[in-house]
Amino acid sequence: MKIASVIVDVSAKQIDKGFDYLIPEQWRGLIEPGMRVVVPFGPRHIQGFVVGVKDDSDFDMNKLKEIIEPMDLTPVLNEEMLELGYWLTDEVLCTKISAFQAMLPAALKAQYDKKITLSPSANIGEVHDDLRLFLLTENELSWKEALQHDLISIVHKELAKGTIEVQYVVKEKTKKKKVLHVLPALAAFELELEKEKLTKAKKQMELVQFFIENPKPIELKKLQVNLSVSSATIKSLIEKGILKQQEMEVYRDPYENREFKRTEPFPLTEEQSEAIAPIVHAIETGQHEVFLLYGVTGSGKTEIYLQSIQEVIDKGKEAIVLVPEIALTPQMVNRFKGRFGDLVAVLHSGLSSGEKYDEWRKIQRKEVSVVVGARSAIFAPFENLGIIIIDEEHETSYKQEENPRYHARDVAINRAKRYSCPVILGSATPALETFARAQKGVYQPLTLTKRMNEQALPSVKIIDMREELRGGNRSMFSSELFEKLQDRLQKKQQTVLFLNKRGHSSFVMCRDCGYVVLCPHCEISLTYHRVQHNMKCHYCGFESAVPKLCPECQSEHIRYFGTGTQKVEEELAKLLPEARVIRMDVDTTTRKGSHERLLTEFQEGKADILLGTQMIAKGLDFPNITLVGVLSADTMLHLPDFRASEKTFQLLTQVSGRAGRHQLPGEVVIQTYTPEHYSIELAGEQDFDRFYAKEMQMRKIHQYPPFYYLALITVSHEELMKVVSVTDKIARYLRSHLSNKAVILGPVASPIPRIKDRYRYQCLIKYKREPELVNTLKKINELFLPETTRTGMQISMDMNPYILM
Ligand code: ADP
Ligand code: ZN
Ligand code: ZN
Repeated sequence: MKIASVIVDVSAKQIDKGFDYLIPEQWRGLIEPGMRVVVPFGPRHIQGFVVGVKDDSDFDMNKLKEIIEPMDLTPVLNEEMLELGYWLTDEVLCTKISAFQAMLPAALKAQYDKKITLSPSANIGEVHDDLRLFLLTENELSWKEALQHDLISIVHKELAKGTIEVQYVVKEKTKKKKVLHVLPALAAFELELEKEKLTKAKKQMELVQFFIENPKPIELKKLQVNLSVSSATIKSLIEKGILKQQEMEVYRDPYENREFKRTEPFPLTEEQSEAIAPIVHAIETGQHEVFLLYGVTGSGKTEIYLQSIQEVIDKGKEAIVLVPEIALTPQMVNRFKGRFGDLVAVLHSGLSSGEKYDEWRKIQRKEVSVVVGARSAIFAPFENLGIIIIDEEHETSYKQEENPRYHARDVAINRAKRYSCPVILGSATPALETFARAQKGVYQPLTLTKRMNEQALPSVKIIDMREELRGGNRSMFSSELFEKLQDRLQKKQQTVLFLNKRGHSSFVMCRDCGYVVLCPHCEISLTYHRVQHNMKCHYCGFESAVPKLCPECQSEHIRYFGTGTQKVEEELAKLLPEARVIRMDVDTTTRKGSHERLLTEFQEGKADILLGTQMIAKGLDFPNITLVGVLSADTMLHLPDFRASEKTFQLLTQVSGRAGRHQLPGEVVIQTYTPEHYSIELAGEQDFDRFYAKEMQMRKIHQYPPFYYLALITVSHEELMKVVSVTDKIARYLRSHLSNKAVILGPVASPIPRIKDRYRYQCLIKYKREPELVNTLKKINELFLPETTRTGMQISMDMNPYILM
C-alpha cells in the first residue's frame, strides 16, 4: 500500500475530500486509516486524517506528494468513527474534517508532544533491544528521538504486541500532576543477579524480588505503605543503582479524593420491573430499539439506567450515559461511581483538557465500561457498545450549536443501530418530537407513573403578579410566597428560589419614556452588572457605563429593570435578615468546584434558601426542601422561538420536581404576569399529556416540528446590502429547486440582526419530505463559494435548528 487518501485540515468546503499522498518507504505498512498525518498542502504543512490506503491512484503517481510524517502510531479514529463522520457530513451538512475533529478530545487538537513508554501490563524484558535501552535509561522516549534513531518500525511492532504505548503530553498551562515513583534501574535478569548479593539484607532482597515480579514504576508512597518498607531500604537500593526514583505523571482523577459509598441495586418496584423488562430483553437478544422512559422526577428512572447498565457490563459490553452538562453534578456522578466504581469515566466541561484526555484514554484502553458525560461523550470510542442512555432527553444542550451542528440523540441512534443495542431516552417532559415518535410506535414507550414511596407530587399554586401590583404590592415576592418563606424559616425547612435570568439584573430602561439601552453591535439589550456598575453585551462583550440621563428624553429615571439573582439576594437580606441564603448563578460558580461546594453547603443545612438560575433546576435531591418559588415564569415565554412554550413548561415542571422528594410534602409557588397561558397553567397541574395535546395543535396550525422539519440558513457579513442580496438569491434558488410543498420563509433579518458588527439575515425552510434538500443545500454552498472565500461572507446551515436567533 503506497498511497494514502487524506482529508486535510482545511475547513473550506471545496477541499473537503480525500487527497492522495505517497507513503514514504519507511512508513509503508504502518500508516492506517484513522491516523493523523502531516502533509504538504500548497506551501504549508498541515495535518490530515488518513481515510484509506491503496496501491493505485487516479492521479499521476509521479506528481503525488509524500506524507511528511505520521502524527499517531495507532489510529485515533476507528472504522466506526470514520463512517460516523461521513454520515454526519450529510446529516448536518458539515465538512468531514470538522466531523472528525469533533470526535476527538480537545487535547488531541491542541499542541502536544508524543512520548513512548512501557505499557503498564508489560515487562521491559519483552521489548526489542534497541528500544529497551531507551526505556531503561530514560523511562520514556520522545517521538523526535524515535524518528532520529530510526526506531519507528520497531515502535510500531511493539505497539502491536502491546508492550509499549504512546501518550500525548498536552502542553498545558495548568501544571501536570507528578508524583515520585520508584522503578527498577536494571533488567529482570540483572535484578536476579543483584538479589543474590543481598542475602544479608532481607528487606532489600524482598524489595528486589518485588520488582522482578512487578517491574513497573510504583508510587513511592504506595510502595512504603503496601509493602511496609522503610525509606532507608529504598534509598540504599537506589544508591546501589538497582532501583531509581523519578517524578512521573499520574492520572489526574478529579474524583480521586472522594469516597464513593458503594450502593447495591434496589429490588425494583412492580412498575420499574415492567419498564425494565423490554430493555433487558433487547440487551439479551442484541436488538436495536429506542425506548422512551417517560416518568416524573423521582419515579426511579436512574435506578433503571443503573440496572440496565449492570446487564450490559455482565455481557462484557459498554455503556454511554449522557446527562445535561448542568446536571453533571457530583450527586449524579456519585450514583454511577457508587454502583460501578472505577469502571466509570466521567467527561464534563469542568475538566481541564488534560483531565479529559486521561478519561478518554481510559476508554480507549478499555479500562472502563461506562462513560457518564455531557453531549460530546456520545463519541466515546467504545468498540463494543451495549447501551446508550440519554437522561433528560428533551434538554436543548444535546444539540451542538456550532459546526458540526449535530444532535446527540441522532448520533446515539446511529451508533446503537450499528452495535445492535438499545437506546433509552429518559424524561419527565419529553421533547415533543420524541413523544410524537413514541405515540407513533417508532420508539417504544415505557412509563413510570408513581414516585418512589408514593409521595404525592407537590401542590402548585400560580400567583397573578398583576393582581399583586393592583393590590399595592410592589415587591418581587407575592404576599403568599413571602408568607410561605417565613413559615419555612420557622420550621427550619429549606426553600429553593428560581429565577430564569443570568447576571445581576436585566436591562437598563428609562421609566419615563421606555427607552432600553441596546448593544450598538448586536442590537440586544445590554445586561446591567452591579459589581462593576456597568452594562455588558452577552453576545459580543461590549461594555459601557450606565448613562446618567436618558439619551432619548433626558430624564434622570433611567436605571436597571427586571430582577437578577443578586437583587433578589439583597431584597431577601432586607426582608428576612435572619435567613441564610446561598446564591448560585454564573457569577458565583465560575471557579472550579464552586458549584459542588455550594450544593454541599445547602445539603448540609448551612442555608435556608437556595437562590439561583437554570443551573439549580435539575439534579437536586435533598430531603429538606419543601418549598420551591419561581419568581417570574414569563421571562422565557417571550423569547422569539417556537419552542418557548415547550421550554417554559419543561422548566417549570422540572423546578417543581425539586420540592417534596422525600418524606415531607412539597409546595410550589409560580409567580407570573400571564397565568392564563396554557404552558404555565398546565405546568401548574403537572399535566404533560394535556400540554402535549395542546402544543401539538399549535405546532400543527403553525407548521412547526414535529409536523414539519426545519432547516435554517443564516447569512452574515459586515455589509448589509451584500447580506440581503445573497440571502435573497438563496431564497429564490430554494424556491426553484425544492418542491412546491416546501415552505420557504425569508429572507428576513434574524431576531438578532447583528452580532459583532456583522449583519445577519436568514431563510427558514419548513418541509415534510424533500429528497433533494441536502443536495440543493450543498449546491448552494458550492455556488456561493467564491463569495464566501473572497469576501468573508458566512453562510451557515442548521438542519433541525434549536436556536432560531
Ligand atoms: P428519577 O431518576 O426518575 O428522578 P431515581 O432513580 O432518582 O428517580 O429515584 C428516586 C429515589 O428513589 C432515589 O433516591 C432512588 O435511590 C430511590 N429508588 C429508586 N428505585 C428504588 C427502588 N426500587 N426501591 C427503593 N428506592 C428506590
Ligand atoms: Zn427616557
Ligand atoms: Zn454586542
